[in-house]
Amino acid sequence: MTVLSQRVLEMEESVTLAAGARAKALKAEGRDILELTLGQPDFVTPKNIQEAAIASIENGKASFYTIASGLPELKDAVSQHFEQFYGYKPAPNNIVVGTGAKFLLYAFFAAVINPGDEVIIPTPYWVSYADQIKMNEGCPVFVTTTEENDFKVTVDQLEAVRTEKTKAILLNSPSNPTGMVYERAELEAIGNWAVEHDVLILADDIYGRLVYNGAEFIPISSLSEAIRKQTLVINGVSKAYAMTGWRVGYAVGEPELIAAMAKIVSQTTSNLTAVSQYAAIEALIGDQGSVEEMRIAFEERLNTIYPLLCEVPGFEVVKPQGAFYLFPNVKKAMEMKGYTDVTAFTDAILEEAGVACVTGAGFGASENIRLSYATDLDTLKEAVQRLKTFMEG
Ligand code: PMP
Ligand code: GLU
Repeated sequence: MTVLSQRVLEMEESVTLAAGARAKALKAEGRDILELTLGQPDFVTPKNIQEAAIASIENGKASFYTIASGLPELKDAVSQHFEQFYGYKPAPNNIVVGTGAKFLLYAFFAAVINPGDEVIIPTPYWVSYADQIKMNEGCPVFVTTTEENDFKVTVDQLEAVRTEKTKAILLNSPSNPTGMVYERAELEAIGNWAVEHDVLILADDIYGRLVYNGAEFIPISSLSEAIRKQTLVINGVSKAYAMTGWRVGYAVGEPELIAAMAKIVSQTTSNLTAVSQYAAIEALIGDQGSVEEMRIAFEERLNTIYPLLCEVPGFEVVKPQGAFYLFPNVKKAMEMKGYTDVTAFTDAILEEAGVACVTGAGFGASENIRLSYATDLDTLKEAVQRLKTFMEG
C-alpha cells in the first residue's frame, strides 16, 4: 500500500521555510552564514502587546477555547482597525480570525474552489498560493509580470487568461517578493474588471502597513462598495507588529464567505490560540508607535542597502516600495558565473559566499533571488559585500 496521498506527493515544501531551516542547520554546524531568507522582522513583539498576553494568562482568560471564528473583542478590534486604515467598518459577521494569514488563505481556497476552478496569480508570487490552490483541487493560472512593468499585472493580461472557470484573482500589494505597491488607478481598473466579470478578489494585504519613501498603500476593498463586496481581505499581525510566532491572521469579507471559512476553522484548528487573540487586540487598537518605529527602521535599511546591491556585478534591482524584500534579477550574474538555473546559483551563493537567500524559482521567477532586509544593517552590509566579492571572484 502506498502510504502517502497523491495530493501530498504533488505538493512542494514551502521554499521560504525550507531555505530558513537550511540556513539555521548550517549555522548550527558552526558555519558562518548570514541569513536573509525568512520574511520575518528581527524585532521582538512590542512590550505593550507582550503585557496584554501575559495579563490574559494571569487572569485566566487565555485558558479556554474561544468562539471558533474569534473573540468578539478581537473582531471589534479588527473593525476599529479597519475604520482607521481602510475607511470602512466591518461588522462581526464580516470577520473571521484564524491561525495565521497563511491558514486563512487556505480556508478561502477550500471555501470557494470546486475541482478545476481557476485562480489567477500574477507572478512573481508568494510561494504558498499555488500549492494551496492545488491542495484544494483548483488550478493556478499564472500571469507573468516583469521588471519592465514594475512587476504589475494589467487588466489586458487578466482578460487574456479569463475563462468560465476563473473564480478568483490574487492581489498582493505590497508584494512579497517584489515589494511593488499598486496605485489607485491600477487597482480601480482591476477591481472594476473583477466586478464586471464576477471574479472574486483575494486581497492579501499583510504588508499594508510597511510602505516606504512616500508610497501609499491603498486597500482595493476601500475603492467602492461593489469592489468591496467582490473582495476577501486577508491580513494579520505577523509583519507590522513583529508577531510571526503568534500566528494571528484575520479575513474580512461578505458574510456568506466568512461563515464558510469559519466552518472550516471550526472543523480544523478550532479557535486561534486564545493568548494570541488577546495579544492581537492590543496590537490592533493599542499604541501604534512601535509600528512606525519598525517601519522607519525597514525604510532606512532599504535606502542603505538598495544602492549597495545595485553595485553588485550582474545584479539588476527594481527599488521596492513596500514589504521587506529585495528581488534582484540575476540573469547576467548567472551568465557571468556559468549558471543556468537560479536554484543552483542560490545554492552556490550559500556555499561560497555564506549568504542564505531564497531562490526565485519558488516564486515563479527563474531569473531572480529574494533577499529579506528584515535584519540588522551590519548583517545586510556584510551580506552585500560578500555577494560583491563572490561575483568579482
Ligand atoms: N501572505 C504573504 C504575502 C506573506 O508573505 C506571508 C508571510 N508569512 C503570509 C501571507 C502569511 O503570514 P502569517 O501566516 O504569518 O500571518
Ligand atoms: N512569508 C514569509 C516569507 O515569505 C515567511 C515564510 C512563510 O510563511 O513561508 O519568507
